[in-house]
Amino acid sequence: MEKKGVTRRQFLKYAGATAALLGLSESLIPEIARALEELSSGKPPVLWIQGQNCTGCSISFLNTNYPMVAEIVLDKLSVRYHPTVMAAAGDKAFGVLEETAKELAGKYVLVVEGPVPTAEGGEYCTFGLEKETASFHGYQRRKDKPMTAWMEELVPGAAAVVALGNCASFGGIPAANASVTGTKPVQEIVKEIAKDKPVINIGGCPAHPDWFIGTVLDYLINKRVPELDRHNRPKMFFGKLIHENCERRAAFDAGLFLEDWNDDNPDMKLCLFKLGCKGPVTYADCPTRRWNSGVNWCVGANAPCHGCAEPSFYKDLSPLYEPLPEVHFAGLTPMVDTLGWIGAAATAAGIGAHYLYKQLGKKEPEGGES
Ligand code: SF4
Repeated sequence: MEKKGVTRRQFLKYAGATAALLGLSESLIPEIARALEELSSGKPPVLWIQGQNCTGCSISFLNTNYPMVAEIVLDKLSVRYHPTVMAAAGDKAFGVLEETAKELAGKYVLVVEGPVPTAEGGEYCTFGLEKETASFHGYQRRKDKPMTAWMEELVPGAAAVVALGNCASFGGIPAANASVTGTKPVQEIVKEIAKDKPVINIGGCPAHPDWFIGTVLDYLINKRVPELDRHNRPKMFFGKLIHENCERRAAFDAGLFLEDWNDDNPDMKLCLFKLGCKGPVTYADCPTRRWNSGVNWCVGANAPCHGCAEPSFYKDLSPLYEPLPEVHFAGLTPMVDTLGWIGAAATAAGIGAHYLYKQLGKKEPEGGES
């Protein structure tokens, strides 16, 4: 870092930004600085491949809130293959994938962006060429190599697999209502190839750059997979319900809702629940972390949360602008037939009693929420 003109003071500032990113106490800054310094000795290799994706998660990563932290991360990593930003192309680029898989088995981290189509022998997503040839209209030509074959080649040697974005983690849009491509989330494919290989799911459409950088840093500093929730998402980013931290929560509790998108002068404090907000069932730290260098987030910009960090996105959380049709809370049966799902959800969660009473046209009991 010294050779690059980075001073000790700047380096400690980066360590401080890293602590903030990971939600750690400032007292841990010296510890983080030491760990980052130690990483200079051996750069962990990373292979970043793309399946059925729009490259949005790569773009999101390149728009990181902490450019200098990203620089450090990239400096501490050896990103050997990334189809969008690498200079090499063709056989030279694909050769890197094959060589790394052979020479650095057990050491590299495999980042997968986008899920894996399995129908028609995986022909819906191919990159690179097979060694053998096939006959094509009388000509012999080299066959395309499907994503499924790449996964078989790269997963066994990976120290860990990071599924980046909702599509890679849970199937997302490619898996929604269109099973023609036989789309499978990365973790399902990994399980078929190497049952015990750790997979970290980073949801989001796209994934927030902090979620990725923070996860990688945590992995490098602590030399272990971070604590994960039941969907294999890092708890430090996906541990809290959006609805609990939303700045419009008071409006929800008071039964004050935006009712019409055509309102040309909307009250920006009104809750968006009735117009499709999925915040009550979505776990992510968007309200506190915010996006675009902390400028804003979906609800702050008067757009409902679409639930893009959840496994049920997109298929079960669409239509995006309509309220959730049904919500199941652990251990409780929604009273859909009598009260409607909204009342059931509000009652089960112990939230929004005002809204429930308003929906039912009943008078609230004295003393507020029941
Ligand atoms: Fe915020 Fe959406 Fe919850 Fe309303 S429903 S309080 S807009 S997260």
